[in-house]
Amino acid sequence: MQQHTLAAQITQTGVGLHSGVSTHVRILPAEAGSGRYFVRVDLPDLPVVPAQIAAVSQTVLSTQLGKGEVCVRTVEHLLAALVGMGVDNARIEIDGPEVPLLDGSAKEWTASIAQVGLLSQPLTGSKVPLVVQQPIWVYQGDAFVCALPAPETRFSYGIDFELSAIGNQWHSWSLIGNLENTSNSFAAEIAPARTFGLLHQIEHLQQSGLIRGGTLDNALICGPDGWLNPPLRFANEPVRHKILDLVGDLSLLGNFPIAHFLAYKASHNLHIQMAQKILDLES
Ligand SMILES: [Zn+2]
Repeated sequence: MQQHTLAAQITQTGVGLHSGVSTHVRILPAEAGSGRYFVRVDLPDLPVVPAQIAAVSQTVLSTQLGKGEVCVRTVEHLLAALVGMGVDNARIEIDGPEVPLLDGSAKEWTASIAQVGLLSQPLTGSKVPLVVQQPIWVYQGDAFVCALPAPETRFSYGIDFELSAIGNQWHSWSLIGNLENTSNSFAAEIAPARTFGLLHQIEHLQQSGLIRGGTLDNALICGPDGWLNPPLRFANEPVRHKILDLVGDLSLLGNFPIAHFLAYKASHNLHIQMAQKILDLES
């Protein structure tokens, strides 16, 4: 068993979904055992924000790490791309408060990672994943996330919307043992699924100072008469995007526990609550 970092640096520039602020991101190879972490290169003393559960500060519509001015918002798609492609250690330099949304998916991140490739690193400490032995759950109303004992790590997700273009969707994706198969499957099946929004909520969100960077180019928008900006990349693109979000949020644990994660109508808040509960079990 080994760990991996990027073989070379990658860069992306774009606008953040909520802030509307354009930032540059540069992801650099990092030392074995250093994990995935952000560095705010626009702030004095280059503060570091680790991509760990303990650093989560907000989970409204996106996952935010850090405190006060030293924060990084909407980390989930980039982190999902790193973990999905097998990058254990990465220094993510960013010159502003929010990760670029790009096309609303993790496609561009995964393509950049695939292009530069990975570098194997010797194992430091243990990479033995936690094995979930008993069901664990968190819920809010009829939404939930469970972790159930299973022979392999699997993510299954369900959503249910009144808008008929979305309706009821379920999807399941699992880690396929070896790194190459898992990253190929992640890049093809999960990473391209874009953020989606509901037309009737957009005005309210914008009045609340949110989604200032949202456009028809970086999010699928659904109205009563269907999608405003088709075509979809998958018939069930929305629920695949929920798996992308869940993978990104649970990546804040470092390694994935061995469990079947089953989520229904959940949110970043419930994803993070589940991760926190697993962390509590470990300690
Ligand atoms: Zn998302």
